[in-house]
Amino acid sequence: MVREVALTLDPESSADVDKVKKLAARTAGVPLQDISEWRIIHRSIDARRKNIRVHFKVLIATGTDLLAPEITPFRPRNVTGKPEVIIVGSGPAGLLAALRLIELGIKPVVLERGNDVSLRKRDIARISREHSVNPDSNYCFGEGGAGTFSDGKLYTRSHKRGNNLRVFELLCYHGANRNILYESHPHIGSDKLPGIVQKIRKSITDAGGTILFQTAVKDFIIKDNKIAGVTIRDGSKLMSNHVILATGHSARDIYEILLRRKIEMQFKQFAVGVRVEHPRLLIDNIQYHGTQAVRYLPAASYSLVRQIDGRGVYSFCMCPGGFVIPSATSGNEVVLNGMSPSSRNSKFSNSGIVVEVKAEDLSEYMKYEAMAGVMFQGEIERKTWEYGGRTQKAPAQRLADFVEGKFSSSLPEVSYFPGVTSSAVHELLPPFIISRLQNGFRYFGKVMKGFLTNEAVVMAVESRTSSPVRILRNENTLEHIRISGLYPCGEGAGYAGGIVSSAVDGIRVAEAISSRIKP
Ligand SMILES: Cc1cc2nc3c(=O)[nH]c(=O)nc-3n(C[C@H](O)[C@H](O)[C@H](O)COP(=O)(O)OP(=O)(O)OC[C@H]3O[C@@H](n4cnc5c(N)ncnc54)[C@H](O)[C@@H]3O)c2cc1C
Repeated sequence: MVREVALTLDPESSADVDKVKKLAARTAGVPLQDISEWRIIHRSIDARRKNIRVHFKVLIATGTDLLAPEITPFRPRNVTGKPEVIIVGSGPAGLLAALRLIELGIKPVVLERGNDVSLRKRDIARISREHSVNPDSNYCFGEGGAGTFSDGKLYTRSHKRGNNLRVFELLCYHGANRNILYESHPHIGSDKLPGIVQKIRKSITDAGGTILFQTAVKDFIIKDNKIAGVTIRDGSKLMSNHVILATGHSARDIYEILLRRKIEMQFKQFAVGVRVEHPRLLIDNIQYHGTQAVRYLPAASYSLVRQIDGRGVYSFCMCPGGFVIPSATSGNEVVLNGMSPSSRNSKFSNSGIVVEVKAEDLSEYMKYEAMAGVMFQGEIERKTWEYGGRTQKAPAQRLADFVEGKFSSSLPEVSYFPGVTSSAVHELLPPFIISRLQNGFRYFGKVMKGFLTNEAVVMAVESRTSSPVRILRNENTLEHIRISGLYPCGEGAGYAGGIVSSAVDGIRVAEAISSRIKP
C-alpha cells in the first residue's frame, strides 16, 4: 500500500533524515520495518514566527508495494539523418528545445556564439582577474547560456505556459540533485550547473544532434516571408525552414539585425536598480529571528516588494550565501548579477533591488522605438563602467549612505571579485529610479528590522533583469507574426524570464515545430 503523510518538524529534527522517516512511519501507523520504500515529495520552511517549523509531505510504500518512478527519464530517438531544425543559442530555452526535438525524432542543430563550458570558465576567470570581457564568452554567452553560471534558483511564478515538472525531471536526469523535485524553493547552485549542461550536450550529440560552438549567427536568410536558414559570422550559410531564435536578453546584435530586417518587435517593460549585499549572518538572524534554527536551515532568503509612485520596487534574484558577479557582455560596460553555490555558504547574501521601467519613463529614448530599453540599458551600463574607473570594478556605497545621498568614506568587504570603488551611486542612475530605490530601502528597513544598515553595500548596476524587447510571435503557432518558420523563444524573445520559464518555452516551441514536421 502507498500512503501520503504530512509532517511538521522543528528545524533540528528536520535536518535528520532518520527522524523524518520515523515520524512518517508513526504518523502513518506503520511499523518502520514494514516500509519498502519512502520519499519526500514536498518540503517547505515556515519562518514567519520565532517558532520555526519545517513542513513535509512524504510517500510511504509498505509490504510488497513500491513507489512509482520519481521521474520520467529522457527518451531519446536516433535523429541521425532526420529533418533538421536550427536552434540559435544554447541557453535553457535552446537546450531544452533540442532535448524535446530529439524525443520527437527531429534533429537539432544548435549554434552557439560562445565557448564550451571548459573554455568558458577560463574566459570568466579573466573578467575578474584582468577586467577583460570576451564579447562571445562570458557569464551570459557560451554553452548553457546565462543559465550555466547562474544561481540556479528554479522557482518561477509562471505555471501557465507549460510543463515545469518536465524541466525539473530533465535536469534531474542530467545530474541535478533530486531535492529540486520537492523543495518549495528549489536551487541547483552555480557549482553544479556546468556539469549538468555538459551532460545535456552529451545527450544531444549521442542521439545524433549537433552543437557548434564559436558559431555566431549574423543574419537570417528569408525568402517571401519564410525563413530559409541563417548566415554565420564567417559567411557560411546553414539552411532550414525552421529556426528557433533563443539568443537571450543580452544579444543586442541580434536585436539590431532584426531591426535592420524590419522583423517586428516592440518595447517591453523591464526593471533596473542595484545589487545590495549584506553579511549572510545578518540576513539569517533577521529571517530566523536570531534563533538557533540558523544552524539547521539553509542560508535565509527574502522577497521584498513595494509599490512606490506607481512603480514596483522589488528584490530580484536573491542569492543567500552567494556572490555578486560581473555579467557584462562587452568591455566598456559594468553589469552585475548574483550567484550562489549549492551549499550557499559564502559570508554574504545579495539581491538585486530594482524599479520597474515603463515606456513613459523613457520618453527621450522612444525615438529608438523597440530598441528604447536596449539603448537606455547600454547607456547606464557604460556610465557605470566610467564610474568604476573604466574597469570591471563596481561603483559601491554603503546602504544607509545611499539612502541618505551621502558619499561613503570607506567600504566593508564584499564578495565581488573584480573589486569595488566608493562612488556616489545615488547620482549614477536617473532620479526616477534613485528616489524609488531610496524609498524602497526605507520601507524594506521597516519590514525587515536591521536590513537598512551601513553594514550593507549597494553596487551598480543591476540592469538586465529581463528582456527590454519582445519579438512578436503568434501565440498559437509560436512563429514570428510575419516570418513563418522563425520561432522567437525564451527570455530574449520576451516570452520568459528565468531558467524554468525559458526552458518550458523551449519545449513548447519544439512541440509546435514537431506538429509541422513529419519526422
Ligand atoms: C549570474 C546570473 C544568475 C542568474 N540566476 C538565475 C536564477 O537563479 N534563476 C533563474 O531562473 N534565472 C537566473 N538567471 C537568468 C537565467 O539564466 C536566464 O533567464 C536564462 O538563462 C534565459 O534562458 P535563454 O535560453 O532564453 O537565454 P540565455 O540563457 O541568455 O541563452 C542565450 C544563448 O544564446 C547565445 N547567443 C546569443 N547571440 C547569439 C548569436 N548571434 N549566435 C549564436 N548564439 C548566440 C548566447 O551565447 C547564449 O548562450 C541568472 C542569470 C545570470 C546571468
